[in-house]
This record gives sequence, structure tokens and C-alpha cells, in this order.
Amino acid sequence: MATGQLRSISTPILLTVVGVLLCIGLLVGWTLVIADNIELGESLARSNRWLLLAGPLSFFTIMTVLVIFCFRLVRDVLEHQRQSRFIDSVTHELRSPLASLRLCLDTLRRRDLSPEQRAELLEMMADDVNRLSGFIDDILEASRLESGSAGAAMMEVDLRALVDRAADRVLRRYRVDPDSIVNEVPPGLRLFTDETALETVLKNLMDNAVKYSDPPVHVVVRARLEGRRVHVEVEDRGIGIPRAHLKRVFDRFFRVPAVQVHKRQGTGLGLYVVSSLVRELGGRLDARSPGRDQGTTMHFTLPVTRPGNPRSAAPAEGDGAFCGVAGHDPDPATEAHR
Ligand code: ADP
Repeated sequence: MATGQLRSISTPILLTVVGVLLCIGLLVGWTLVIADNIELGESLARSNRWLLLAGPLSFFTIMTVLVIFCFRLVRDVLEHQRQSRFIDSVTHELRSPLASLRLCLDTLRRRDLSPEQRAELLEMMADDVNRLSGFIDDILEASRLESGSAGAAMMEVDLRALVDRAADRVLRRYRVDPDSIVNEVPPGLRLFTDETALETVLKNLMDNAVKYSDPPVHVVVRARLEGRRVHVEVEDRGIGIPRAHLKRVFDRFFRVPAVQVHKRQGTGLGLYVVSSLVRELGGRLDARSPGRDQGTTMHFTLPVTRPGNPRSAAPAEGDGAFCGVAGHDPDPATEAHR
């Protein structure tokens, strides 16, 4: 935890500890006074039993209130800090493509450019616009998920083709070799889901896999059918995720506190959006990594058919490819959602 973070949460924790110690001191003092004056205790107990009962009760109430207050305060302080970091990242994330666009425009205004140079500048501008729009999509998606206004448009989706499409967007964004992303999804694997949401999930996972890898980038996307669920994996050989942070990477605005991460642009929103979308589609997402510099595998499952309606995605007549890449096992135990 950063020093600034520790400093700002130390005040509520300190106040709570002082409050709890005071309460304990009062209780011990009160008990000693009563123990020294048995007669006083007896006369008190005779005259007012309720007063004796009220003591420990108010003690426990005050302790509980103090501890809850401390937890809430610490949570709010941490949330506030995450939001400030997010605003910093947003500002940075908006500023750099805008600065690059301005530079390209200024250069384009010069007349002495060759057609090739113009084409290259236009390509760079298109990349910047794509980056900006991808970033705005993430923010809009996150706020749509927060407000719970999701409305899935379910349809039959060819997973291999969708992976190709998402990979293409990522390859163009990072201008890496087309062989950097290997699509190992078996041909003909289809599922009934929200295509746009699944494309966002795949694009974000591949985007991270490329972004958090040093060259030569090597990302593999696999999928297999188990019963009535599809398991999808996006594996990279990048910087990896330390064990302690494997769960936290799905929190809003969370970024692993490491130099290797902070030198790459990001807001900590992508995996929050991805995990919420996967959950919305009836699946579950988890991150696996042996540790720093040992690569990461993002794994998620999705139902092949519409959740809660196993017959809704029955293959059309003669459509043997639907769920046809593996055996049709009976439905296994449904996985817990994140
Ligand atoms: P960001 O915009 O920072 O990439 P994400 O929500 O997509 O935000 O990811 C959260 C954090 O999880 C990242 O900041 C990074 O620390 C870690 N992370 C995500 N994907 C990977 C990956 N494939 N390899 C290593 N670290 C990753």
C-alpha cells in the first residue's frame, strides 16, 4: 500500500483504536470499583438491575458502532483515492491521443508532404480516434453496468469468427505482427449469447494480453466445450500478475502497483467491465498466473444456451455445427457466478 494511502486511512483507524481502548478502560475501571466495593455492587444490583445490564449493553453497542464506522470510513477513503487515480488516468488517456491528433493535423497542413506521408499520418490519426472511442466505450459500458440498465441482445454467435474480429482490432491498435495472436478456437463452435458484449470481453482480454507483454508478443485464444458450457482462455507470456492481486484486478479502477504496469496506459476499468459482462452473460471469469514475468491466463465460462432456457438455442434443422465440436455431455453442475 502506498504511503499516502496508509496516511489517510491511519486517522480513522487510530481514532477507532483509541475509542475501543477507552471503552475497555471504562469497563475494566467500573468492574474494579464494583469488585472493591461488593456492598456498593450489591446495593446497586438491588436498587437498579437495569442499570447494571445497561452498562455492558451500551459498551458493546459503542464498540460495534465504532468498528462499523471505522470500516466504512476506510472503505470510503480508499474509494475516493481510487477515483482520484482514475481521474488522473482518464486525463492522461484523453490527453495523449488528442495531443497526437493535433500534431498530425499540424503536420498535414504543410503542403510539402508526399502522398505516402499523408497516408501514414491519416493512419495514425485513425488509430488515435480508435483508441479514444475504445476508451469512451469502456467508460460508458462501466456506467451502464453500474446503473443496471443492461439489455442483452441474444443471438447465435460463431466464436472463432468473433475471436478473429476482436483480434484484428487489437492487432491494428498495437501494430503487432498478425501471428502474435493465435486463434485456436475450433471451427464451428457456436453459442447463444449477446454478440456485442462477448466481442467487448474478448477484445479487452486480448488487448490486455498484448499490452502487458514485452515483444515478441505471443497470445493464444482457446475454447472448448464441456457439457453445455464453453470454456474460453486468453493466454499470454507477459508480465504476469502477482498472486496477491489475482482477485483484485477485477475491482473498479484497480491497477497492480508495479512499474511495469504504470508505464503502460490504463484506467483499471477494463477487467471490471469484462467481469461484469461475463457475469451478465451467465458466466464466470478468473485470472491465473504463476507470478511476475510468467504470463497470465484469463479464463471464463459461458453457457452455450440462454441461461435459464436450455432449449432456446436449439440448433436450426440441419445445423450440425451448433455445439458440435465436442461430445454432448449432460449438463454439468452449473458454475457459481462471480
Ligand atoms: P488497465 O486499463 O489498467 O489495463 P484493467 O482493468 O484492464 O485495467 O486491468 C486491471 C489490472 O490488471 C491492470 O492494470 C494490470 O495490472 C492487470 N492485468 C490485466 N490483464 C493483465 C495481463 N494480461 N497481464 C498482466 N497484468 C494484467
